[in-house]
Amino acid sequence: MIPVKGYAAQSPTTDLAPWSFERREVGPHDVQFDIQFCGVCHSDLHQIKNDWFPGIFPMVPGHEIVGKVVRVGSEVKKFKVGDLAGTGCLVDSCRHCDNCKADLEQYCLNGGSYTYNSTEQDHKTPTYGGYSNTIVVHEDFVLHISDKLDLAATAPLLCAGITTYSPLRHWNIGKGHKVAIVGLGGLGHMGVKFAVAFGADVTVMSTSPSKEKDAKKLGAHHFLVTSNPEQVKAAAGSFDFILDTVSAGHDINMYMSMLKTDGTHCIVGLPSSAIPIAPFTVVGGRKSFAGSSIGGLKETQEMLDFCAANNIVSDIELIDIKDITKSYERMLKGDVRYRFVIDIATLK
Ligand code: NAP
Ligand code: ZN
Ligand code: ZN
Repeated sequence: MIPVKGYAAQSPTTDLAPWSFERREVGPHDVQFDIQFCGVCHSDLHQIKNDWFPGIFPMVPGHEIVGKVVRVGSEVKKFKVGDLAGTGCLVDSCRHCDNCKADLEQYCLNGGSYTYNSTEQDHKTPTYGGYSNTIVVHEDFVLHISDKLDLAATAPLLCAGITTYSPLRHWNIGKGHKVAIVGLGGLGHMGVKFAVAFGADVTVMSTSPSKEKDAKKLGAHHFLVTSNPEQVKAAAGSFDFILDTVSAGHDINMYMSMLKTDGTHCIVGLPSSAIPIAPFTVVGGRKSFAGSSIGGLKETQEMLDFCAANNIVSDIELIDIKDITKSYERMLKGDVRYRFVIDIATLK
């Protein structure tokens, strides 16, 4: 077994603290890479707090992982020692269900293996994430990372990036579309960058008037403060597509009132509570309410290659792992500009 240093939550009520554990030896198809940077996703906080379901503890969060390959198994074809490598939210899946065969491993019908707070495909062995110094992953679930981009700023692409890229691609968003991105946080700011890159007319809908300048710098064409009823009313019936990245409960009906006829409101944010939709909201205007989860391995590589070709990375604040609890507190207040990334060198 490989000894690993990490940061773990021992229970939903304790702060993260140093914790040592072990990973499996490198198997014939495995890649081991030393982690240099790991992004901090709001899902990390949801999961250590048991917001979604009772978690597996100790829990080592982190699914925006990048670093350098240090060992490869005898059968590994796609990586060699010294390559940059990344892993997102998935470390395995059944590989034979209809969705896995269609490159949609994130919707594996037999239960995919998530990077932490989950189990390997034996459905028993717990998985541990990227707030740690090294990881072993089957080569099929390791992504190639370009050396053209800043490595720390690339880490958030592995979750925030693909989670916003995938629905924008699925709904063919591009030139001629009016798109709104709701919530300017980790996911939201990547959604803005992609929607702008795809040629859409982009509005940021935010609860934070102070983010207007940043939204424009990110490329957004318009900014709407959702706590201002006048602005909401003026935007009634104006969007083809709304990408909703909000992490807490909010009134979907208000946002859907701003969709055009046949428009789609797609949530990627995962508040823990149910979201009530008034039938009149969707019936009037034949509107759709939809959702989307991360992306498959093929699409994640496509997104990373698109980012390398178009010079797209995340706007980040690099943090010492000792400041993780403070960073969570800021994230809960919507005070992230726009993704915290842990410098794993600070993990001693
Ligand atoms: P984040 O950085 O904290 O951003 C969330 C943003 O939502 C905040 O910055 C804030 O933006 C807005 N917001 C927060 N509370 C709000 C409220 N009560 N009403 C309206 N807006 C509010 O979080 P993140 O890392 O981007 O993650 C966002 C959500 O996506 C989380 O629930 C996470 O678990 C989920 N997620 C889902 C997937 C997936 O595959 N579907 C993948 C990753 C993450 P403003 O200040 O601009 O209002
Ligand atoms: Zn995430
Ligand atoms: Zn499957």
